[in-house]
Amino acid sequence: MTESMTQMAVSGVQGLRPYQPGKPVDELERDLGIRNIIKLASNENPLGPSSRVVDAIRSHLPELARYPDGSGFRLKKALAGKLGVAPEQITLANGSSEVLGLSASIFLSEKSRAVYSEHAFAMYPIVIQAVGARAVVAPASTAASRQRYGHDLDAMLRCVDADTRVVFIANPNNPTGTYLTDSALDGFLSELPKSVLCVVDEAYFEYVGVKDYPDTIGWLDRYPNLIVTRTFSKAYGLAGLRVGYSVSHPEMADLLNRLRQPFNVNALGLVAAEAALDDDEHVLHSKTVNAAGLQQLVSAFEERGLESIPSVANFVTVDVKRPAADVYERLLHQGVIVRLVENYDLPGHLRITVGTEEENRSFISALDCAVADD
Ligand SMILES: *Cc1c(COP(=O)(O)O)cnc(C)c1O
Repeated sequence: MTESMTQMAVSGVQGLRPYQPGKPVDELERDLGIRNIIKLASNENPLGPSSRVVDAIRSHLPELARYPDGSGFRLKKALAGKLGVAPEQITLANGSSEVLGLSASIFLSEKSRAVYSEHAFAMYPIVIQAVGARAVVAPASTAASRQRYGHDLDAMLRCVDADTRVVFIANPNNPTGTYLTDSALDGFLSELPKSVLCVVDEAYFEYVGVKDYPDTIGWLDRYPNLIVTRTFSKAYGLAGLRVGYSVSHPEMADLLNRLRQPFNVNALGLVAAEAALDDDEHVLHSKTVNAAGLQQLVSAFEERGLESIPSVANFVTVDVKRPAADVYERLLHQGVIVRLVENYDLPGHLRITVGTEEENRSFISALDCAVADD
């Protein structure tokens, strides 16, 4: 594309830098010609989807000439039943990332501001900048507590002014794995002006096992300016299909519905998500395997004197105490893909997705090799 074409783009887009995903397995195979690659870079479920999902997809294949149900009737009904809300409160999306973008498009303009935390998920600055709004980054918590690197809600509240229209909160946050308690988040929402939309991103909801994690969906009656986003990409093991959703006040859902593409969730995604919801056991098993794997990784880090950020999700970010890009490269050469988090202002750190026990073990021995000769 020529320079003049870039100059013709709206100013927000001119300055955009694309989201950097984890390196795909295929790409590493092409680059280095190695096999048996272990990818612990995108917080995917190492167990894959439920077998019921695979069956449902297979039986739907002959129907692919048909457009999907643009209203997502069956999936919304199933979700509504499970979550105890009305179907009118649910908006289906092409991954929950789509809801983040739609929220920004609906509420932000070049005259407004949006707030998120330092070390927060990288999609927030992208969706804010894409619509030309001003991003305001609140400093993260520095307290020497479990919450270090996590969102500092008081600091976020201080960033809210008359021009603020949206606040993005990740709970738990990626890449830190930190979480906000029910009392902390409830307190924040009660202080937040009702004219400011609060997007609470719960992409890792199903993995969280702590008792004081908020029941945000139960709060929707009290906070019409709240929108909760969730996804089938993580614990449900459907990242490749792109299905996410939000739960909100029906009026908010109506706005999202006006802007979304009419067939934003594809037909296989719809049937797969519906089947996935029907297999609680698979999610429960995934959660159990994850808890053990997280402990396996954290113990390995402790044994090696490496500090990791306490995580309630399916990944953990660790301070490798050397240039993280070097360690990342050395791991790649051993066929292990993890995630660099320099772009999250966490230099010296790597984010590791919890894999199966065997994958975790392979990663740990690759890490030992990667740091052995320095
Ligand atoms: C992975 C992730 C998402 C969602 O991704 P989708 O695949 O688009 O649903 C959203 N937020 C956070 C914090 C994530 O880590």
